[in-house]
Amino acid sequence: MTTDLTMSEHQNAQSSATRPEKDVVASRLAYLTVGLPTAGTVGAIAYAVYDGLWVSDVVLFAVMYVLTALGVEAGLHRYFTHRSFEASAPVKVFLGVAGSMAAQGPVIFWVANHRLHHAFADTDRDPHSPQPRGSGVCGRVKGLWHGHVGWLFNVKKIDWSRHTRDWLADRLVMKINAHYFSLALVGIVAPGVIGGVATQSVHGLVGGVLWGGLARIFAADNATWAVNSLGHTIGNREFRLRDESRNIGALAAPTMGGSWHNNHHARPALARTRRHWWQLDLAGEFIRLLAWVGLVCNVRHGNSSSDRAGVRS
Ligand SMILES: [Zn+2]
Ligand SMILES: [Zn+2]
Repeated sequence: MTTDLTMSEHQNAQSSATRPEKDVVASRLAYLTVGLPTAGTVGAIAYAVYDGLWVSDVVLFAVMYVLTALGVEAGLHRYFTHRSFEASAPVKVFLGVAGSMAAQGPVIFWVANHRLHHAFADTDRDPHSPQPRGSGVCGRVKGLWHGHVGWLFNVKKIDWSRHTRDWLADRLVMKINAHYFSLALVGIVAPGVIGGVATQSVHGLVGGVLWGGLARIFAADNATWAVNSLGHTIGNREFRLRDESRNIGALAAPTMGGSWHNNHHARPALARTRRHWWQLDLAGEFIRLLAWVGLVCNVRHGNSSSDRAGVRS
């Protein structure tokens, strides 16, 4: 597979998208995966007011943010969804584990939803289009909310494996997928253990869990979700595409380059989202670094005719 969906996957996506019913279990899980990091962020701020913000809190937040945001943008997005490069086993494991620690859903769930997003962007079959859901300001707000996080509370009952056939035979990836909840939990507990051991204090432990774990998930999740909501609503459109994708420079750093979303929709198979030298694309640079040291190969730079197949402008 070279771009977003092969023809058969596109047909599968179309046939399975005939108004599927709500996936009650997945939708209920959203209360946990969205609610817990939100509550943890409130707790982190309250703890900082009560006991101060320690250097260990800030360092663990920053390190865990960069690791997991790269796991999402370079891993779940550019590698697992679009297959914009080939990875060695250690890199595959790192990207899968770091992406799972972002707590945005198991690999197969993330990949299937994003492939559906590209196949049906901004139509009623798009899992998270932020287009207005009703008239007036109210309809616009409803659409933005749905595109940002609301869709997670209304996940449709879809056979995710139909859109991720390329990964089903990969035992390593399926193992990471099966251990999603454990990995997400490790992403919360590990910074607490590291903080506690490094500072030999209770604050280091609690601050590590709150800042390196929960508040970090909250911040990184909202950055990713902002690409889905604001990235299809406001911002610059360099490419006139059938969808409403936009480039938002202000979100380039926190999304690791994911917010050059109009660039990405124009050429979804590429390993980079940068189209001009000044467009910051940290995930693209990370992939370049991995290629330079020989840990990934066949990086899609956009020079071949198949790379250009995604252009719809
Ligand atoms: Zn999009
Ligand atoms: Zn994409």
